[in-house]
Amino acid sequence: MRLIQSAVFRLTLWYLGIIMVLSLVFSVALFRVSTGQMDNNFNNQRDAIERLPVPIGLESRRDDYIQALADELGDARRSLVLRLAALNLLTLVIGGGAAYWLARRTLEPIENAMEAQGRFTADASHELRTPLTAMRSEIEVALRAHHLSAADARTLLSSNLEEIAKLEALSAGLLRLARSDQLDPTAVAPVPVRQLIETAIDRFQAQLSGHHINLEVDADDSSVEGDAASLTELLAILLDNAIKYSPEKSTVTISGHASGQSVNLAVADQGAGINASDIPHIFERFYRADRSRSKEQVSGYGLGLSIAKRIADLHHGAITVESSPGRGSVFRVKLPVTQTPAQHPVFRF
Ligand code: ADP
Repeated sequence: MRLIQSAVFRLTLWYLGIIMVLSLVFSVALFRVSTGQMDNNFNNQRDAIERLPVPIGLESRRDDYIQALADELGDARRSLVLRLAALNLLTLVIGGGAAYWLARRTLEPIENAMEAQGRFTADASHELRTPLTAMRSEIEVALRAHHLSAADARTLLSSNLEEIAKLEALSAGLLRLARSDQLDPTAVAPVPVRQLIETAIDRFQAQLSGHHINLEVDADDSSVEGDAASLTELLAILLDNAIKYSPEKSTVTISGHASGQSVNLAVADQGAGINASDIPHIFERFYRADRSRSKEQVSGYGLGLSIAKRIADLHHGAITVESSPGRGSVFRVKLPVTQTPAQHPVFRF
């Protein structure tokens, strides 16, 4: 992080410069005011002494006295200059520390963002390299063989296709992640919760029939304010996980109800559940709980929940999870309501 260090150094110099300019301006002003007063006092005293009648022969004593007053004035000036210099030196030392602390605090969010970006790039390139390495080594082994039968070639190609499918899934995930970074303000409108749930479920019809999972829906006719496509994406991610991590013949329930000023969406499953130690991390990019097990058994790159969280955040909402390993998980999304059933206008004639 040399870039950040040099930025901290430069910002420290700027802050210190500002502190020192203020301190010097203050010192000069103080010096001028104080010496002005001292000069006035001296002039008044000298004039008063000079007006006094002096016995003949004692003029030199009077001049000595005035000279002593002038020396005192010079000493006072010098002492003031020394004190102000000491004050500025102290300001330089304390101000240096304060400027460094301020510069670090100012740049901390940027440093954190750069660190996260670096981690993300490293994780993404690692995930991209894994299927490429697998493909390369399979192809190299095949090329080294003296004789490659049609069956071997077919096995190789279908294995390569699997790796390509993984790369496609990963690039699609990265694209979704990039797109979920911002909310299109023109797309924000009231979205009925029921419609949201139905559109999300439609994406999984084929998958659901293959899995024999029982899907239950329980929603009222409230609406949320948001981008329908992003909110459908959020629900689809939760639904995809619920189906992926659930055993056959279990039930997945999607619900959406208004409560006060929020709409609570929930996706509950009776699947594998998540260990308490994994829960704080599952919304991080590329985090997959129980890596060894889930990587082998269930496809995914640990991007889904980070996208879901980003979408919830962009909608001023929150996403939480409750889970008991072996018994299932409930993912809840709380979003600001635009219309609850109770708020429907009722006309009576
Ligand atoms: P992935 O592509 O691995 O599913 P996600 O970001 O969607 O990535 O989820 C992160 C991790 O959280 C998953 O690897 C999985 O271990 C855990 N997880 C998410 N949803 C569920 C669920 N419904 N049941 C059990 N584990 C889950």
